[in-house]
This record gives sequence, structure tokens and C-alpha cells, in this order.
Amino acid sequence: GRDILSDTGLWRDAAYVNGAWVSDGKAGTMDLCNPATGAMLAKLPQFDAGQVRGAVDAADAAFGPWRLRPAKDRAKLLRGWFDLMTEHAEDLARLIVLEEGKPFAEAKGEVAYAASFVEWFAEEAKRIRGDVMAAPEAGRRIVVLKEPVGVCAAITPWNFPAAMITRKAAPALAAGCTMVVKPAGQTPLTALALAELADRAGIPAGVFNVVLGRARVVGGELTANPKVRKITFTGSTEVGRLLLEQSAATIKKASMELGGNAPLLVFDDADLDEAVDGFIATKYRNTGQACISANRAYVQAGIHDAFVARLAEKVGALKVGEGFEDGVQQGPLIDAAAVEKVKDHIADAVAHGAQVVCGGATHNRGPLFFQPTVLSGVTQAMKITREETFGPIAPVVKFETEGEAVAMANDTEFGLAAYLFARDGARLWRVSAALEAGMIGVNTGLISNEVAPFGGIKQSGIGREGSVYGIDEFMEQKYLAWAGA
Ligand code: ADP
Repeated sequence: GRDILSDTGLWRDAAYVNGAWVSDGKAGTMDLCNPATGAMLAKLPQFDAGQVRGAVDAADAAFGPWRLRPAKDRAKLLRGWFDLMTEHAEDLARLIVLEEGKPFAEAKGEVAYAASFVEWFAEEAKRIRGDVMAAPEAGRRIVVLKEPVGVCAAITPWNFPAAMITRKAAPALAAGCTMVVKPAGQTPLTALALAELADRAGIPAGVFNVVLGRARVVGGELTANPKVRKITFTGSTEVGRLLLEQSAATIKKASMELGGNAPLLVFDDADLDEAVDGFIATKYRNTGQACISANRAYVQAGIHDAFVARLAEKVGALKVGEGFEDGVQQGPLIDAAAVEKVKDHIADAVAHGAQVVCGGATHNRGPLFFQPTVLSGVTQAMKITREETFGPIAPVVKFETEGEAVAMANDTEFGLAAYLFARDGARLWRVSAALEAGMIGVNTGLISNEVAPFGGIKQSGIGREGSVYGIDEFMEQKYLAWAGA
């Protein structure tokens, strides 16, 4: 429990509303367990719809004064939050390992990534600017102001418990919006520690709130409530679609970071080690539980056998265990349903003729651990190429021509990330242009950082997070038509 933290004040097991901790949930409590050990971590209050409404009211009341603060003030407060996150990075990482299961080194990487958005948008807050345009008539001026959208609701997933919150909250607060966050039920402690640090940083009461409760109850209120002007979500396409439907009645602005089914293309002229390492970097981060994780590799016939052999050698050597153990590279999956999905995808692939090159079964470390697996002889007919697997399985499809590979890569309703490995410059440009995805890794498996625009096309989402564009998602334009000017 909390003794694992060097600052036990970061262990919070109550919701955070209007600058106060609320431990009384009108809809009961929820038990939180460590996925690696099954040990009970905490009991958390569950809000009913009325309590969620109360949090929205608090965010609404805080919005007026917050938006009127000079941008430089908001920037300073965000900078303070960033500094505290950096100072307490190890404790935040411990909480992530405890409730989410990723290896400690990866958890520290996530905290640095999460904090980078707060630093970046603290800087961007000062650079919000509008426009003045040449008017078509004499004596007139066209002025465009940027204004904060208002109260924003954020619904976030468990796989990156810190970063998926800061990537939303930092631009929202920088723009002058206030926020109510509903973290995933699996990972509330990280969210609450972030709230504690926001509180210590002096972010005013009501500006940043964290509510806890059953997804349908909280999501239902946040989408129905007319005071919420924007919904920003990261999670499955299925739930994103539902939230858009529910938000239609009150015409909310929406940003959606949804599911992916990222293809990774390796051409004959690629550097073998670079391609294998790049695939492992994107595939095995967080034990395959990332929306931009390469879900399926397409490897050209000339390099295929060498690629599969090298891949299996390296994947077979990945160290599996609890996140706090030395040198561990693969943690547990988040829950039993995740393990079932992985098993189902492997069984379906094998039934359709795929071969298990390494792994393929549950791991003796515990019920939620799975062996890092490589499959060859995979085809487009299998579930593993059509659905997001979200686990440590690397399926390899062999291809002959560039056109064939691009067609298979694009044969999906998703369009989040794609990766390609080749040396020929013309091919790199041509294939990058042809791939239907919001983000493309060109000879790299690592694409995420605060400076680049993160987001998808097709049914992978709406809008972009991070970068100079990210703050626009939390601002409206107001046009002033001046006469006699
Ligand atoms: P994942 O596969 O990452 O769990 P989900 O889309 O199920 O993806 O979950 C992402 C977030 O959406 C979580 O915070 C979850 O609690 C929330 N969520 C799930 N179902 C609903 C719902 N019906 N309404 C609102 N939020 C939901």
C-alpha cells in the first residue's frame, strides 16, 4: 500500500472535487487490485449522477475566474504542476506499476512523457493568439479572438494512467478551460496523485476535478450535462461512438483518441536489426497494451525468414514479471478479459493455418501473465489482423509487392498509426503518402512526444493532442466585425 511511496501524501483514495477530497460515494465503493499479484490496493468511493453533477457545477463556477486570469498566471501554475510531477516522478511511477502493471522503467518513462505535456502547454498558454484580417469593405476590421471552450469532461483509459490525463488537462487548463476527469476504474490512484500535485501547485479549487464511479453513470451525466461544453476521450472506438451519440443532444465539441490496428511494413531493403528492434519497441511497450502498438507486421518475401528468426530470438528473450523486479520488460495484462482476447486471437490464427514460432500460452508467473509470442503464416482472414489484440503477440504476414502490402495495411476501419521500414527514399515517401493513418513511423517504432500532433483518422478518432495544434481543441474562435474603424 501507501508505504511504498516516499511521500505518502500522494496516496489518495477519495475523489477530488472543488479542491476537497470526497470519500463518501453515494453509489457505494469499488475494490482496486494489483494485476500482477491480485492483492487488494484500495477501496474507492463511487459517485452517483448527482455527485458528478456537483463536480460539473464546481468546474463551471471556477471557469469564470480561471479564464480571466492572465495567461501568464495560468502558465506559472502549470509550470509548478510540472515541477512537482518531476520531483515526485518515482512515486507516480510506483503507483502506475501497482495498479497498471507495467515495468518500473516504463512507468518512469510514462511520467516523464506525462509531465512533458504540462511543461509544453505551460509554455503554449502564453502564446495563444488571434488574428486581424483585411476586410472586404472600407472602414471595417475583422478581428478573431480565441476563447476557452468552457467546462471540459475527460474520460481516460488505464493503459497510460498519467499521460492520458495530462495530455488533455494541460492544454485545457492552459486555454482557460476547467475540467472534470473520470479516470479508468483500473487506475484511479495515479489520477488522484496528479490531483494532489495540482492542489499543491496552487491550481485553484474547481479548475481540475477527478470523479470516481461506474463508467455508465459518470459518462451518462458528463455527456448529458449541458454545462459540459466539450468531451475529450481516449479509449475504445466502441465507447467513443457511444459518447458521441450521448453528446449529440447537447452538441458538445469532441476529441476522440480511439482504437487502432497499426500495420508495420518491412521491405526487402530495410535494415534488419532496425526493423526488428523498431517492431519490438512499438509492439511490446506496456506488454502490447497501447493504441499505437503495431498490431500486425507485413514483411516482404526476401527478408521475411531472417526477420521472423531474429524477431523470435529477441521476443523469446524478453523478461516477464512484476514491474518492480529488476530487468523486467513485460508485465501482466490488465485483466482476465485481456488474457482471453489474446488466447482467442492465437487460437483463431492457428485454426486458420498460422504457426506459433515462440510463446503462445499463458505464463507461469500468474493468471494475468502471457508469454511474448511470435506468429508466422498469418493472413488477412484472421482476427489477429482485423481486430486490435492489445497483448504481447507479434503476427507476421508475408507479402510480395508494395501495392499488396499497402492494400492490406489500409484494409481496416482504423487509421491511428502505421510504421514502415525501408531504405529507398522514393519508396518511403510513396508509402507514407499511401498509408491511411494519422501518424507514421518511418524507420522507427517510437513516435510519441509532446511536440508532435497525436491522433488518428477514419474510426480511430477526431482531433489531435499535444503539439502547437493541441490547444486549439480547447478554444473557440470569436469573430468581431468592426464598423467605423
Ligand atoms: P479500454 O479497452 O481501454 O478499457 P474503454 O473504452 O472500455 O477502453 O475504456 C476507456 C474509458 O472509458 C475508461 O475510463 C472506461 O471506464 C470508460 N468507459 C467505458 N464504458 C463507458 C461508458 N459506457 N460511458 C462512459 N465511459 C465509459
